[in-house]
Amino acid sequence: MKVPMVDMLAGYPPIREEVEAAVKTVFNKANFILGEEVAKFEKEFAAHNGAKYCVGVANGTDALRMAFIASGIKKGDEVITSPFTFIATSETISQVGATPVFADIDPVTYNLDPKSVEKKITKKTRAIVPVHLYGYPCDMDALMAIANKHNLLVVEDTAQAFTGKYKLGGRDWKYLGNIGHCGTYSFFPAKNLGAFGDGGAIITNDDKIYETLKQLRNHGSKVRYHHEMEGFNSRLDTVQAAILSIRLKHVEKWTEMRNAVAAKYAEALKGVCVPPVVPANARHSFNYYTIRFDSKAKRDNAQKHLTELGIANQIYYPIALHLQEAYAHLGGKKGDLPVCDAVMDTVFSLPMYPELSDAQIKAVTDAVKDSVKVAA
Ligand SMILES: *Cc1c(COP(=O)(O)O)cnc(C)c1O
Repeated sequence: MKVPMVDMLAGYPPIREEVEAAVKTVFNKANFILGEEVAKFEKEFAAHNGAKYCVGVANGTDALRMAFIASGIKKGDEVITSPFTFIATSETISQVGATPVFADIDPVTYNLDPKSVEKKITKKTRAIVPVHLYGYPCDMDALMAIANKHNLLVVEDTAQAFTGKYKLGGRDWKYLGNIGHCGTYSFFPAKNLGAFGDGGAIITNDDKIYETLKQLRNHGSKVRYHHEMEGFNSRLDTVQAAILSIRLKHVEKWTEMRNAVAAKYAEALKGVCVPPVVPANARHSFNYYTIRFDSKAKRDNAQKHLTELGIANQIYYPIALHLQEAYAHLGGKKGDLPVCDAVMDTVFSLPMYPELSDAQIKAVTDAVKDSVKVAA
């Protein structure tokens, strides 16, 4: 049975009419740039996360870049982040003139290890960028404590984790992205809240960061042709905002469905490989479902077997950032971040989307089980 990694069309029929009507409305008004649909979506998205403000931008990469600038991160600063993420997290740190510093990850969560973060702090450290990888919440209690102790900014890369939650201090349920000074999001189609094209957003509770972000996304201007600073052309498209407002109403249900798929995967794969752990103080958004094997040979074999059967799969990420050619100048080498080195060689991700059927789940898990038997 062929199983795709994601199926954007599976969730479309129930919302098709509403989406097509909304798009038609924007077309008829022709308010394509920062139309009222953008402001409406920003309000809804901020409210959903319990945040004061949201600024819609062109994509998740721009969201990171502008969040860094608006927070005051600049040339000469060091920013500590995970080496086990998409390069957007670190390239934007470099692009504002700062230096990405990679700390090691936790062997169970694959997210930043707070102990390693603390060891990387120098006089130049300005910020920590936790990445809630695959939708799994970072240890925000520990990271916020480190940030507070050393007076550092925290920008959460929440691209893979919208609808994920964390019980801060064991008491308050907070949406991911609304714990640090800002949280950044991507609406790339394959994310939890996907647009029908590119899109992104930043949330914050800080008045000054919010005002700066609104300027940055629109060439540094509040009033047309008055530029208090240089900025970017990075606005959330009005058509995408109209679609996102509709999809936002369904996203919590979709995350519940993803969690149900994850529970079925975990049950079927018990004892076969290491499935993701879902802690009691967190809600996983399951943007990706990533499993780990006890050897690279087993992982590679499983991947090969699934691919032969037409079951999509992907390694997120096959080469950690400290080992990428783009960061050769930082001098990172194998062995510097041993946990990350071991994890990247032994994980891979299975198909994950809300509408995955029981038959598809069985086909995927049977294939993984068979591959392990062959490898044993
Ligand atoms: C997708 C992603 C981004 C970038 O988002 P785009 O909208 O594709 O620019 C940034 N960080 C992480 C962790 C991502 O997964």
